[in-house]
Amino acid sequence: MSAEPLRIAVIGAGIGGLSAALSLRRAGFAVDVYEQAARLTEIGGGINMGPNAARILYRLGLGPGLDRDGVRPRGSHQRRWDDGRTLQQASLNPLCEALYGAPHLTIHRADLLAIIAAGFPAERIHLGHRLTGLADGTRGVAATFENGVQIRADVLVGADGIHSAVRAALFGEEAPRFAGCVAYRGLAPAEKIADLGLELGSQSWLGPGAHLVHYFVSRGRLLNFVGWTEHDSWNREDWTDRATVARALAAFEGWHPQVRRIIGAAETCFIWALFDRDPLPHWSVGHATLLGDACHPMYPFMAQGAAQAIEDGAALAACLAAEPDDPAASLRRYERLRLPRVSLLQQMSRANKTRYHLADGPAQQVRDAEWAKAGDRSPEALGWLFGFDAGAVEPLPAAS
Ligand SMILES: Cc1cc2nc3c(=O)[nH]c(=O)nc-3n(C[C@H](O)[C@H](O)[C@H](O)COP(=O)(O)OP(=O)(O)OC[C@H]3O[C@@H](n4cnc5c(N)ncnc54)[C@H](O)[C@@H]3O)c2cc1C
Repeated sequence: MSAEPLRIAVIGAGIGGLSAALSLRRAGFAVDVYEQAARLTEIGGGINMGPNAARILYRLGLGPGLDRDGVRPRGSHQRRWDDGRTLQQASLNPLCEALYGAPHLTIHRADLLAIIAAGFPAERIHLGHRLTGLADGTRGVAATFENGVQIRADVLVGADGIHSAVRAALFGEEAPRFAGCVAYRGLAPAEKIADLGLELGSQSWLGPGAHLVHYFVSRGRLLNFVGWTEHDSWNREDWTDRATVARALAAFEGWHPQVRRIIGAAETCFIWALFDRDPLPHWSVGHATLLGDACHPMYPFMAQGAAQAIEDGAALAACLAAEPDDPAASLRRYERLRLPRVSLLQQMSRANKTRYHLADGPAQQVRDAEWAKAGDRSPEALGWLFGFDAGAVEPLPAAS
């Protein structure tokens, strides 16, 4: 690396931005993070961290926090919406660690964000900085913020989510589309559902036009649930729009008693609408690039959106470390490496929306028969996903 480390500005302090900042700092760069909000927040309950992302977080030294606050689900179990019949079932832990060197975790989003943030110097996270403009030049990027602050950086990384201002500045404005799905999200205190005798694992319930997933977070004290239903239109796209538990129960009317008990045990419930964008053919312009939902938002039906953002950060750090004297070339290499993998996951996540929501009938019976035979959620079947090491980037050939 050159004598002076590259100065890198990361826009957005979500899971993607902060984990990228940590990966980049560990690779020796001078990293600053700019976040529009006045404090670090993650809205919503839980999140799955597959071993592909958990491995990166452990390597970044975050193991003590993850072991303290995360849950290691013993398995995953997909069931029918009405009678609870098993569609497929797989072990997760400790198998994932044995196969892929890292566990599969479920964790509260706020805990995960706090754990990642604790690994990065607080004084280099600039809160209350909403990016409003950027200009790429021959020697770096200039950025301006709503509060009047102006900065220059050698590389700028837009990790500012699905409504990314960096993406709009680089590739033009384009509104995301409603994806026809709304989620009811809530947290049920474990003691209120203790009589269900749930194993420390993850369960998905699949039914006509809807599915519901639940798993433990917060050291097993809370059960997180997300219940998806299909809708033609939506006019508000705010995570924090309040829904009522009664509305969630009405949406899952007639479902298995376990599903209804879990929803009914929540004290509050959020409603969240799913939005989508067409894939971008490129993420980088000059010295600026994108990561996470800013460039590849995906339906959460492979539970990989944040995991892929974490992978992006590890790959970006490895590409820049391999070629620090030519950041623009490193960014092009980064997007070339990442695009095929995230595009595949975007497609698979979309396909799962259809597969998970089949009406009872012949297509659903074919799906259930296939799953009963082979299953597709086992760690062994997901080796291509869980075993992938995003930070392992081939060294560049030596210049002759
Ligand atoms: C219901 C649901 C369940 C999910 N489950 C999973 C799962 O189990 N596993 C998984 O891996 N993924 C899951 N995902 C996907 C995952 O939540 C997202 O992919 C991930 O959080 C995206 O992270 P990000 O950092 O790219 O963007 P964000 O989390 O959106 O962060 C963007 C940050 O940028 C800031 N920002 C925005 N604009 C500006 C600006 N102009 N200037 C400065 N800062 C700005 C924002 O305030 C925010 O802090 C799920 C998603 C949903 C909706």
